[in-house]
Amino acid sequence: MQKFYQIVLVVLCSVSFTMAQQLQSPSDFLGYELGTQFSRHHQVVDYFKHVEAQLPNQVKMEKYGETYERRPLYVTYISSEENLRNLDAIRENNLKNAGILNGTSTTSDIAIVWLSYNVHGNEASSTEASMKTLYSLLTQKQEWLKNTVVIIDPCINPDGRDRYANWFNETSSKPFDVDPQSSEHAEPWPGGRPNHYLFDLNRDWAWASQIESQSRLKIYNKWLPHIHVDFHEQGINNPYYFAPAAEPFHEIISDWQRDFQTQIGKNHAKYFDAKGWLYFTRESFDLLYPSYGDTYPTYMGAIGMTYEQAGHSRGGLGVLTREGHILTLVDRIAHHTTTGLSTVEISSRNASKLNTEFKKFFDNSALKYKSYVLQGESDKMEALKSLLDKHEISYGNAPNKKVSGFKYSTNGSGSIIATSKDLVISTDQPKGKMVKALFEPDAMLSDSLTYDITAWSLPHAYGLNAIASTSLISTSGTTQKAPITRLTQAYGYVSDWNSMKDARFLASLLDKDINIRFNTKPFSQNGNLFNRGSLIILQRDNKHIENFTTALSEMAMAHKQPLTAIQTGFSDTHPDMGSSSVRLIKKPKIAMLSGEGTSGLNYGALWHFFEQQLHYPVTSINTSTFNRVNLDDYDVLILPSGSYRTVLNESGMSKLQSWIRAGGKVIAIDRALSAFAGKKGFSLQYNKNDKDKDKEDPNLIPYSDRRREFAKQMITGAIFKTKVDNTHPMAYGYSKDYFTLKLGSTSYSLLENGGNVAHIGANVTKVAGFAGSEALKKLPKSLVFGSENMGRGSVIYMVDNTLFRSFWENGKLFLVNSIFFVNN
Ligand SMILES: [Zn+2]
Repeated sequence: MQKFYQIVLVVLCSVSFTMAQQLQSPSDFLGYELGTQFSRHHQVVDYFKHVEAQLPNQVKMEKYGETYERRPLYVTYISSEENLRNLDAIRENNLKNAGILNGTSTTSDIAIVWLSYNVHGNEASSTEASMKTLYSLLTQKQEWLKNTVVIIDPCINPDGRDRYANWFNETSSKPFDVDPQSSEHAEPWPGGRPNHYLFDLNRDWAWASQIESQSRLKIYNKWLPHIHVDFHEQGINNPYYFAPAAEPFHEIISDWQRDFQTQIGKNHAKYFDAKGWLYFTRESFDLLYPSYGDTYPTYMGAIGMTYEQAGHSRGGLGVLTREGHILTLVDRIAHHTTTGLSTVEISSRNASKLNTEFKKFFDNSALKYKSYVLQGESDKMEALKSLLDKHEISYGNAPNKKVSGFKYSTNGSGSIIATSKDLVISTDQPKGKMVKALFEPDAMLSDSLTYDITAWSLPHAYGLNAIASTSLISTSGTTQKAPITRLTQAYGYVSDWNSMKDARFLASLLDKDINIRFNTKPFSQNGNLFNRGSLIILQRDNKHIENFTTALSEMAMAHKQPLTAIQTGFSDTHPDMGSSSVRLIKKPKIAMLSGEGTSGLNYGALWHFFEQQLHYPVTSINTSTFNRVNLDDYDVLILPSGSYRTVLNESGMSKLQSWIRAGGKVIAIDRALSAFAGKKGFSLQYNKNDKDKDKEDPNLIPYSDRRREFAKQMITGAIFKTKVDNTHPMAYGYSKDYFTLKLGSTSYSLLENGGNVAHIGANVTKVAGFAGSEALKKLPKSLVFGSENMGRGSVIYMVDNTLFRSFWENGKLFLVNSIFFVNN
């Protein structure tokens, strides 16, 4: 008997040893039933690694980057053994199909499906679903993998997801509390939705300001999948949303892309109907703004879709909904897994058609504008080129000739004399449709009710003159700029001032304690005219720096910053260098408010701006400690967009005003202006809409029309032409016109006692985007940027938020000028 037990034991051990070598389900691997806990990001990565180790012939992971908080970013390829062996050939064939790689493509019947999870960190069911989807594909759906390559990115935004998961894990009751009022359903500021710098990564695909987007675009562009799904969550009381999307659709979206969205939606419906799950389609989530996880892939040839499960930050592990049932994480995972699998199924069934239609998408011969010609400051041109490089969009130098077409600066037909310094971007390239979406003067709106901004035209965002031409303009390759040569001994050196590149150079000089002056009047020397705001670096100011000329020379070369040497303090047209119009720049200490009350998005954009773009130190102060903070330690205080009713109560406001009077500088952005509008001591006032007696009483508008009626009051991201006082320090480096992106309809009057640095004139010129008829009435003679003095200090008003999503490159210098030049 003894022997028998021994044999049984040996057999059992070897069976369990073999089992351990086999593929585990997510629940077995994690040690808890999937959906009963939030998995941390590293556990998810470990599970994918486990699957790869078990099935290396069918699963391959590729690390494509790291987040700001150093979490790894991975995609995983899943397919049949044969396809995985030929993965590179499949990828290259697809790029040939798109015309991106040279050579003829062979006919391919392999569908490429890319599933992206958890772009919004606190929409946390989808990363859990990615594990279940992976497991189900390999254990139950091998048939589909014969002709489909599935690419899974289990978590686009690991920093945000772990912020949410860690918060939930430390907050929730055991067992979880389904009461929607309990604290585990009320996530605190700033929430897990955005990434480290609090950017919404689902608004960043086209602008690629964040490291996650930049890394993802590199690998995305290597593939250009046929299908891309972005998994999300919406409010707890909503049913599931899947394709087809809502109007407006951008006009470049093909009939096939529309049609296949419907086919996919119907396939999902089959599974949802069988289970009796509720869903809706077509009512919200449109396809217009190019920077989403559905539109960007769509404009790159894919069927791009958003799927939305109920849940979001309020979902927790389980929550009682308005209709009285308990929505659990387990349910949420089941729904997202179902649509993920159904997407692979329908793609597999239509693999051949997906390939032929994908190829057709890249025929751009029908586009109206063939070439966009851009002209302007070389720094701004370089900034634009760096964006185009991220999308692998090609460009070239313009020929020397007159080019006619739609002229952006006058918003009508016109012409420019192009030279080889100018840039041409044509739609006659595989990514021509994306070129159109990014550069066209005004995107066509099939419906004014959209989910996002309606204008983003890049020539305006980068402050460049442009012509959209209906004929193809030939190019002559691109030329490298001449390298910066070593400086020789001189009286001083001058840099021009008109770009973020110049601003970065200033910040680096200040960091090295180099003294810099700037001129408040133009001067000329030796035939060179130096505009207001030029950076003037004199030998006499920098005797404390050893081998100063060499040190400055090295910095100029490192920054590729051209400097003009001057040999005397005596100018041909004054001011001379000793004039009071040539002022030493103080090195300001900057603080900004963060925390409850501030807009996380705007605070994050500022944070990113100082750390990653300007490279200048800033101290973040939490609003909850404002009344204890010694403001005298700072020269500048930035109020990001937000509501400051609590912080700037009577005592808070009086503290702030005393500090301003003693020389402090406040920079208020967007909604932060409401803390000052109409308040004693400030000249900022709301611009009231002229009363229109003939207007229909809003109380009598039929209930069903109210949403549309409300749209008349709205501006949803539209571009307006403004007049600039470029003699004001806040506008140094700008021309007399500036195109602003307006994000809301709140409007302020021109300042009576202050500088109206940029404003909208009596005749409003909207060049792109949607603005409601009622909102437009409030805009004549309204403030865009202004500044007023108070005692020895100043207050700067930025009605329009120039750091919005960090893509309005040409607006950023207004902020830099406010910090370094205004009231200096
Ligand atoms: Zn979302």
